[in-house]
Amino acid sequence: MLSEWLDWTLDGERPAQRIGRFASGSYLLHSPGILELTPNTQHSGAHACVFSAAIHGNETAPVELLGAWLCALEANTVQLGAPVLVILGNIPALKVQQRYITTNLNRLFNRELTELGEEPDRARALMEAVDTFYARHHTLPKLHYDLHTAIRDSLYARFVVEPFAETSTDATQWQWLAAAGMQAVLHQHQHSWTFSHYSKHYHSAQAFTFELGRVAPFGNNDMAALEPMLTLISTLSAGIEPPTKPADSMAFFRVKHELIRQAEAFTLCFADDLPNFSRFEPGTCLANDSVAGDFIVEETPLHVVFPNANVEIGARAALLVVPSKPIAT
Ligand SMILES: [Zn+2]
Repeated sequence: MLSEWLDWTLDGERPAQRIGRFASGSYLLHSPGILELTPNTQHSGAHACVFSAAIHGNETAPVELLGAWLCALEANTVQLGAPVLVILGNIPALKVQQRYITTNLNRLFNRELTELGEEPDRARALMEAVDTFYARHHTLPKLHYDLHTAIRDSLYARFVVEPFAETSTDATQWQWLAAAGMQAVLHQHQHSWTFSHYSKHYHSAQAFTFELGRVAPFGNNDMAALEPMLTLISTLSAGIEPPTKPADSMAFFRVKHELIRQAEAFTLCFADDLPNFSRFEPGTCLANDSVAGDFIVEETPLHVVFPNANVEIGARAALLVVPSKPIAT
């Protein structure tokens, strides 16, 4: 059942059984796109793991990655030794290979959310699923890896965003991420209501948003480049210590400024295909906004990440970041 779960979810089919067993554990399908795995034997190093994908519906590499891992569990080439909640975020958007249907799901993970609609309802369901999962495993350290791909190329093909929250990131996490092939880390400077932020802010989980290469349709993803990431997921789900590599093999950045679209008449002053982390010198104009005015780089050079002029008004059109010191390890 595990290896077919993703296809069934996409096809809108309900499996005959919501519960079942595989060699090293059992599964429970809570609702479409929310699957909980429980090990027969919990390893002493286990975390309560949340692995989520398709919070943006056109980001298919993470879905293929989780599919490969679920196949390995079913084939018993990987054993389960930790409880795992597996989430497919935006199923309607995934079916039509769009980022979202009505609004960006990955800004709605806030307990004060009052918006109505399909994506807000899904955010509420996912928050509740995470809450009950972590409550059930309250004695274990909590972990949430939210897996994405970026809209554009990047000077660092694979990187993580560390959400802003009170909880600090364990030094070992950086070593695991480096060994998993991550090339850069971006520290958020303020609350941003993403799914990984939700687990970190409300549950003190070790949590990141992963950007695992560039958006591509199913079957066109470079899965070989994600082998080390598959190893990280497999070892964590086995409840054993993942491989490590020195954290300073990654580049570290922190957010200096969020560029918010304020006007209907809004343009970014660089090519649409600009790679993430491209650097701009002082005096460069980055955006024209008929309400906010031009955004000019001041004395510190800025690197642009996640630029997107087509966001809703009031939403983030780019993160402007600067290099920061590597985290002590
Ligand atoms: Zn995404």
